[in-house]
Amino acid sequence: MSAETQFQPETLAVRAGQERSQFGEHAEALYLTSSFVFNNAAQAAARFSGTEAGNVYSRFTNPTVTMFQERLAALEGAEACVSTASGMSAILSTVMALLRAGDHIVAARGIFGASQQLFGTLMPRFGVETSFVAGSAPAAFQSALEPNTKLVFIETPSNPLTEVFDIAALSVIAHEAGALLVVDNCFCSPALQKPLELGADLVVHSATKYLDGQGRVLGGAVCGGKMLVEEVFKFLRTAGPTLSPFNAWVILKGLETLGIRMQAQSANALELARCLEVHPAIGRVFYPGLASHPQHALAMRQQATGGAIVAFEVKGGREAAWQVVDHCRLLSITANLGDVKTTITHPASTTHGRISPEARAESGITEGLLRVAVGLEAVVDIEADLRHGLDR
Ligand SMILES: *Cc1c(COP(=O)(O)O)cnc(C)c1O
Repeated sequence: MSAETQFQPETLAVRAGQERSQFGEHAEALYLTSSFVFNNAAQAAARFSGTEAGNVYSRFTNPTVTMFQERLAALEGAEACVSTASGMSAILSTVMALLRAGDHIVAARGIFGASQQLFGTLMPRFGVETSFVAGSAPAAFQSALEPNTKLVFIETPSNPLTEVFDIAALSVIAHEAGALLVVDNCFCSPALQKPLELGADLVVHSATKYLDGQGRVLGGAVCGGKMLVEEVFKFLRTAGPTLSPFNAWVILKGLETLGIRMQAQSANALELARCLEVHPAIGRVFYPGLASHPQHALAMRQQATGGAIVAFEVKGGREAAWQVVDHCRLLSITANLGDVKTTITHPASTTHGRISPEARAESGITEGLLRVAVGLEAVVDIEADLRHGLDR
């Protein structure tokens, strides 16, 4: 079942991309092989030159990896998808494939820490400069554009404050300047948000998060139009950060439950956010699904739900926030997200600990801020676990 776009997302999630071998297996096969054999010298030559389609070597293509790519492309509504060893290698490969020395990037200030490092520290060594934009106002992106801007990069909702970026408006601004809009769709996944339908040129993913959904393997992907994805693929087959067939197989099975996981985890997150909003020990709650979120209307236009990440400010700064973390018996203290197990993080001392206190304050990451990536446990148990520290 490939390229069957008339099916609903639930159907695509369990069926799209699957290829059967000669054995007629019902489950997706794991082709754990580094290379592929040819029938004769002429076929080897034809496969290498590309005159005959087929697998050569798993740095280039692998049938299990191809199944994953086709399934994710179907879910994102993309013409094509290429997968990578991690989310960061998806972002690196996109930049390396599409930009050259002298080009310029406009990126949101609040993107994932390693993405900030990649754009801010690593890429300048190769002659690619980035302007970081604070906040999500499209006008601020407009004014950051330079004549050599080739790429606008955002993540929505942002981490950890769940600020929502207007994908349609930013795609118009990028395209008028002759630049591409790239959206990191990690927080929503295609189950909740389809950036390509809203005008984005490419979607990048950390498949490590919701696509796997069970915290097992690292992976990444780039989805979009055939020609752009082909450029990223050419970089990957030469440079090598390709997805392993085993990881592709794990994430492929993860995709089967993506829709119901995202719905259930979002419902838990909304219920938790409503409870936290009225707790006397909590100042602000940041969750796009709440009517009190400043961009609630935009979020509800652009996303199917508010997502599964809730951030909130505990009154009393770092000491009070750490007390909540330290009294958790159920929630996992880890910076990872996108798991069916709920995780809790204190961004100021972990994920955002290495940026200067001034920059942290500027981006609104206070000492009392906590981020909860809500999982599939009963929401009463999640709430009770947070109350151990909050009710003190
Ligand atoms: C985790 C993450 C990444 C990086 O993904 P890895 O798989 O860890 O390399 C990129 N973007 C966002 C939003 C993430 O949460």
